Amino acid sequence: MSDRYAVFGNPIGHSKSPRIHALFAAQTGQDISYEAILAPREDFAGTVERFILRGGKGANVTVPFKEEAFKLATHLTARAQAAGAVNTLNFMDDGITGDNTDGAGLVRDLKANLGCDPVGRRILLLGAGGAARGAILPLLLEQPAELLIANRTEEKAARLAFEFARLPGCAVAVKPDSLAFGDLARRQFDLVINATSAGLDDAALPLPDSIFAPRCVAYEMLYGRETAFMRQAREAHARVADGLGMLVEQAAEAFFVWRGIRPHTAPVLLEMRPPQA
Ligand code: NDP
Repeated sequence: MSDRYAVFGNPIGHSKSPRIHALFAAQTGQDISYEAILAPREDFAGTVERFILRGGKGANVTVPFKEEAFKLATHLTARAQAAGAVNTLNFMDDGITGDNTDGAGLVRDLKANLGCDPVGRRILLLGAGGAARGAILPLLLEQPAELLIANRTEEKAARLAFEFARLPGCAVAVKPDSLAFGDLARRQFDLVINATSAGLDDAALPLPDSIFAPRCVAYEMLYGRETAFMRQAREAHARVADGLGMLVEQAAEAFFVWRGIRPHTAPVLLEMRPPQA
C-alpha cells in the first residue's frame, strides 16, 4: 500500500497541493498517496489523529490550522519555533514533528526561480501575520542589507521586529526594524514582499510608488490573481512575481522532510502555471 499523506484545511477544495505532490511522486518514483482533507474548525486535532490511525505518515496544514498544528506537535524544528506556526507534520513512532517550510519556500523561489538573491538587498516586508512571521528568519539568514516590516496595525510589526531582533541563539548580522505605512515615503527597497492578505479583497495598500528602487523585485505571496499591489508595482517598473513559486517550493521542502528526496520544481511550476492569455 502507498504511504499516505494529506493536506488539512478549511476550506480545502481549492488546494493545489494534491496535484503538486502527485507530480513530485511521479517524478521521483515515490509510492505515495496525497489527499485534501476538510477538517472541521472545531476538530482539527481529532481529524489528524484519525488520519494517523488510518496509516497517515505526514501532512501539510493550511488556513486556519497552522497555529493549532504548532500546538499539536510534540517536537518542533527551529524554523517552526521561530515562525510560531506549523505547515508540515511528520508522524513518527515517538510523536509528531512540526516544521514550517513556507519561509524556506519563499527564499528558494526568490533565489532559484527568480534570480533574486536576498543577500545585500534592502527588503520591505508588508504584513505581520503568519506568512510574514514565517518569512523573517529565513530572510535574515540570507544576510540582506536591511529588513523592514510594515503593517496596517503598526504595533504588530513593531512587536515582530522586537522579537526577531532578540532571537536566542540566532547569529544574524541584520536586526529587523519596523515602520508605519505612512513613514515609507522617503524610503527605497530592492525587494518588496507583500505578505498581507489585502489581495484577497483586491484592496490597495497605501504605498508610495517611490518605495520601488530601480530593478526592484515586487513579490506578492498570493497567487492565482493579479492584485492591486502587483498592478502598482508593475506601473512603478518593478519586476513582479506571485506566490505560486513559493507554494511549489514549500511543497518540495515538505516532500524532502518526509521522503529525503528533493524533487525538481521547475517542471512542476511550469505545469501548475496556467498558460498566459
Ligand atoms: P494572516 O491573516 O495571518 O495576516 C494577514 C495580514 O494581512 C495582516 O498583517 C493584516 O494586517 C494584513 N491585511 C489584511 N487585510 C489588509 C488590508 N486590506 N490592508 C492592509 N493590510 C491588510 O494571513 P497570512 O499571513 O496567513 O497570509 C498572508 C498572505 O500570504 C495571504 O494572501 C496568503 O494567501 C499568502 N500566503 C501564501 C503562501 C504561498 O505559499 N504562496 C503561503 C502562506 C500564505 P493587520 O495585522 O492590520 O490585520
